[in-house]
Amino acid sequence: MTLPDPVTRVAFIGLGHMGGHMCRNVITAGFDVSAYDLDAEAVARAAADGARPADSIDECVRDAEIVITSLPGPPQVEAVLCGSNGSGSAIAAMAPGSIVVDMSTSSLEVGRRARAVADAAGVALLDAPVAGQTIGAEAGTLAIYAGGESEAFARALPVLEAMGDPQRIFLLGPGGCGYAVKLLINLMWFIQAVATAEALTIGVRAGVDLSNLHTALVASPANSVFLDRDILPLLERGDYDEGFAMKLVTKDLALAVDLARDVGVPVELSSLVEQIHRRARAAYGDDAGEMSAVRLYEDLAGVELRWHT
Ligand code: NAD
Repeated sequence: MTLPDPVTRVAFIGLGHMGGHMCRNVITAGFDVSAYDLDAEAVARAAADGARPADSIDECVRDAEIVITSLPGPPQVEAVLCGSNGSGSAIAAMAPGSIVVDMSTSSLEVGRRARAVADAAGVALLDAPVAGQTIGAEAGTLAIYAGGESEAFARALPVLEAMGDPQRIFLLGPGGCGYAVKLLINLMWFIQAVATAEALTIGVRAGVDLSNLHTALVASPANSVFLDRDILPLLERGDYDEGFAMKLVTKDLALAVDLARDVGVPVELSSLVEQIHRRARAAYGDDAGEMSAVRLYEDLAGVELRWHT
């Protein structure tokens, strides 16, 4: 059996907070990369990093063996992959035998529709959303949660390793498993954000020093990565992490609750937590940082969760 030559040509569509860094890391790893985004400035930044700038989806994907997408959510993924809004379709322009890897946090439903289009075109589709924030995207240390055929995964792996931590790149099952796991990770993280915000504001209002409260909680069975690590930039310097915008946070939580509905699981807690984050988005704006629900509790309780308070 002759194995196909290793992948050399990659197309990258979606060069935002995450995709811009991910694209740069693929270029740095030595791949020949073409890049496209609706935002011409994002394309210019990718070109400065060494990508070949493309003016359209078709031009971007035409010669690529692997096409990567990092888009806001299901409508954009469907539009780019299947051309549902008449703007052209990545899959239609791709050569049979090539692979599309959607690294957006998207829905299983759009994944199923894209898979049908990809199957008909002889193109393999992997869902491979990521975790690790913009810091991980920049450092090339993302965790990657993939679903799809193992053969396509093995062929795409060198490209994925250019963006992620090789110890945390998981093939989780058939198509859709990557999206599902990613949605559940975000769901649990944003539940913890609300639980932590409630506990810290109650404790401070009850007269416990924030630093002492935090130290005790971290050393207790109530500890979490959220408490021990992820909330620190907020406690230290009021950083609500605008690298992940509330419009995307609420998109992800809605997708997780939709998934629960689709599979017939009642989720009272998840639905309530989704509403709290939606309230934070309404209060502070679509582009406010992902920690905005904590800010909601700070404002409600009249407490500033900073070490100095
Ligand atoms: P972003 O909004 O910063 O970037 C999305 C990019 O897609 C933008 O540059 C936009 O112009 C482009 N785009 C939108 N529609 C397009 C189209 N039709 N054709 C071409 N380009 C198009 O979003 P982001 O923060 O980079 O997130 C990307 C994905 O990664 C999302 O699904 C998000 O949920 C997920 N994610 C983000 C983070 C984070 O910390 N930002 C972490 C993990 C996962």
